[in-house]
Amino acid sequence: MDCLFCKIINKEIPTDFIYEDEKVVAFKDISPQAPVHILIIPKDHIPSNDDITHENSAIVGHVFVLAKNLAKEYGLEEGYRIVNNCKEHGGQSVNHIHFHVLGGRQMLWPPG
Ligand code: AMP
Ligand code: ZN
Repeated sequence: MDCLFCKIINKEIPTDFIYEDEKVVAFKDISPQAPVHILIIPKDHIPSNDDITHENSAIVGHVFVLAKNLAKEYGLEEGYRIVNNCKEHGGQSVNHIHFHVLGGRQMLWPPG
């Protein structure tokens, strides 16, 4: 399958993982939008949040617990933002579900 994140997960594209378990990988975004910008990616090829169901939704809780743990590891005691861009209007550019963890600066609201 021609999916960038599947290739990263399968180690076809060498990437430094900061975390890996049987369900997810995490690594630093190649184009960081904050001093800390981590991507957490489920290993299953779920295209977007539109494909989350009650059957597969446990992965989202797993991601959020990991986001909290990585935020602590990366010194984000003052807070952080978890972002999921969904499909075109959400600004999704890679069609494999992923969660951004952003921190190390004041986040703004409303988002762009
Ligand atoms: P999104 O725009 O929400 O789909 O997020 C995709 C993210 O993947 C963007 O923030 C990109 O900078 C990031 N990205 C794309 N290719 C790579 C890569 N090879 N390694 C790390 N991050 C990447
Ligand atoms: Zn994929």
